[in-house]
Amino acid sequence: MAEAGKKTRQFRAEVRKVLHILTNSLYTNREIFLRELISNASDALDKLRFRVNRGESPREPDLPLEIRISIDKDAKTLIIADTGLGMTAGELAENLGTIAKSGSEEFLAGLAAESRSGKEKSDGKDGGAADGEAAAADAANIIGRFGVGFYSVFMVADRVEVTSRPAFEKDAQAHVWISDGLGSYSVEPFDAEEPKRGTVVKAHLKDDAVEFLEKFRVESAIRKHSAFVPFPVFVDGERV
Ligand code: ADP
Ligand code: MG
Repeated sequence: MAEAGKKTRQFRAEVRKVLHILTNSLYTNREIFLRELISNASDALDKLRFRVNRGESPREPDLPLEIRISIDKDAKTLIIADTGLGMTAGELAENLGTIAKSGSEEFLAGLAAESRSGKEKSDGKDGGAADGEAAAADAANIIGRFGVGFYSVFMVADRVEVTSRPAFEKDAQAHVWISDGLGSYSVEPFDAEEPKRGTVVKAHLKDDAVEFLEKFRVESAIRKHSAFVPFPVFVDGERV
């Protein structure tokens, strides 16, 4: 019997295809998943600030606008929390169950083009590691350009839980979206105090991605890729 209020849905075909590529092919430069999650958190904070500046009042108005990352080595989880706009149950399903715009097609086409040019290069005499690195960098750029941002977390995680409480809804029930990044995801009510407002992304790291349980590793990725985020970012309580 289904748990009360739990809805399980299949990812659309093109999402499954993108997830398959993300989880199986791009093994270098995986750290950009952090840039994608931080950029989503920053966007959500921006949207909240915009509406506050227009005179709307969010729940928990005294919460600071910030991004907090925490590491749990025992549980092998990396958590990215923001106090931004948040999402309703419907928005969790809509925004994280489909690919925004027609980005996925462009992403797939872009990847195909990159792998063709990568192959041409490696067919030549002086291939080697440098070409591999260049191809990985291109793939990372493609992810950024075509809006498959959130799904990049499945390069490093085999289970992701996104808990969210919308900032401007009257019924501010929190919900949790859960997926292993394979065929399906679920959304169900989440009965806890936290988050009071905004979104918490909890990534259960794969065994080969436990490097992201090291604080210095996370901080260096943030300094490299998220240096200009206009909100404070903390890792385990310390400002980056
Ligand atoms: P993009 O950021 O290009 O729209 P993403 O795949 O990165 O694509 O995210 C998809 C959507 O999911 C976002 O547009 C947003 O609506 C929603 N989303 C993701 N992360 C958050 C977050 N932390 N807070 C609020 N909404 C989010
Ligand atoms: Mg994004």
